[in-house]
Amino acid sequence: MNILVLNCGSSSVKYSVWNTDEEKRLVSGAIDCIHVAGIPCKHIKNGAHISEEIAVSDHAGAVAFVIEMLSKEGIADIVAVGHRVVQGGDRFKEPVLVTDEVKEVITHYFDIAPLHNPSNLEGIVSCQKHYPSIPNVAVFDTAFHQTLPEVASTYAIPRYLAKKHDIKRYGFHGISHDYISREVAARYPVAKKIISCHLGNGSSITAIKYGKSVDTSMGFSPLEGLVMGTRPGDIDPEISLYLMEKENFTPGELLVIFNKQSGLAGISGISSDMRKLLSSSDADARLAVDVFCYRVKKYIGSYFAALDGADALVFTAGIGENSPEVRRRITDGLESLGIKIDVAKNESAQGIFADITASGFALKILVVPTNEDLLIARETGRVASAEKGDKVTK
Ligand code: ADP
Repeated sequence: MNILVLNCGSSSVKYSVWNTDEEKRLVSGAIDCIHVAGIPCKHIKNGAHISEEIAVSDHAGAVAFVIEMLSKEGIADIVAVGHRVVQGGDRFKEPVLVTDEVKEVITHYFDIAPLHNPSNLEGIVSCQKHYPSIPNVAVFDTAFHQTLPEVASTYAIPRYLAKKHDIKRYGFHGISHDYISREVAARYPVAKKIISCHLGNGSSITAIKYGKSVDTSMGFSPLEGLVMGTRPGDIDPEISLYLMEKENFTPGELLVIFNKQSGLAGISGISSDMRKLLSSSDADARLAVDVFCYRVKKYIGSYFAALDGADALVFTAGIGENSPEVRRRITDGLESLGIKIDVAKNESAQGIFADITASGFALKILVVPTNEDLLIARETGRVASAEKGDKVTK
């Protein structure tokens, strides 16, 4: 069974096609720079082996380009399309078959996910147009965190405002944390309490108990929590008001500052790329890495408390999977929590599944490569097959 997986981000469309019977990726790529003024869109395929400028102007056009390319390449036997959708609010706890009602809910959340939900929907509509007889499945980034207890999802603002405007902690990166939870469960079934650190351009950390998310660092939006490539993570809300007053910033300008100009890029003034910062001797670059690691460490401590102990600490995503130095800095000094890495195992663990726990320590420290696309493909196959089965039974 071949499944097309689409991730329509604010300025890109990432795609991959999976044979889910063999769990094998057949092709993958991305269309970048959509809606970036003055820069033509670029198609990057199969890990940058192919890179070409293309004439598309929006997400719908990019999806049409992908579908035409797949058809030209003979990858035509696609049975379903799985879409990563960022915000599903309280409505979706599971992946769902896209119906008109599902599209209405995705649209309802445009206001609280303005950078993502509109392009997610554009991708769905484009697929429905170009593949009219193929089911579309929406897999939500927020769904895995629907199990957050009220005590973790409630902001201490006036209740009537929170209720009126659906303001609560939704959490994101759920597809990745769900994948990590399942991988750890498959390899270490004894690990019931897991702290999952997704450290990439966007970063978040999730406390998982018996396979369920019980707390997570991103909240109402993906801005909250850890320091990220270009987002600040936790800040005092007063800073927004103060900057608006002192700099005359509009909400839109602040959104750009907090989404594109803060985090590692903001502190260092050099780059959002962890590799560049780690190799720099600049004082602000060092500070950026220090603040990044310190924030993760603090969250690990707080999730240790939230979970009442932990059985496994997992590092994943670009930084978590590939940087022994960042993992070492984060875990340094946490022996009192039972967290200690083996230096040699840590150094050799790059982009592969690895147990990097020091001998004699029960709490497993694991490097687990995440694979959000594979999870979306699996879930899409499952939902589409169930739907087909239902139709046959009816
Ligand atoms: P995204 O959130 O865009 O999917 P990734 O998960 O790919 O991001 O993570 C990108 C981050 O991973 C960048 O900051 C990059 O510098 C970092 N990264 C990738 N490889 C390494 C490495 N070997 N050492 C340190 N950081 C790395």
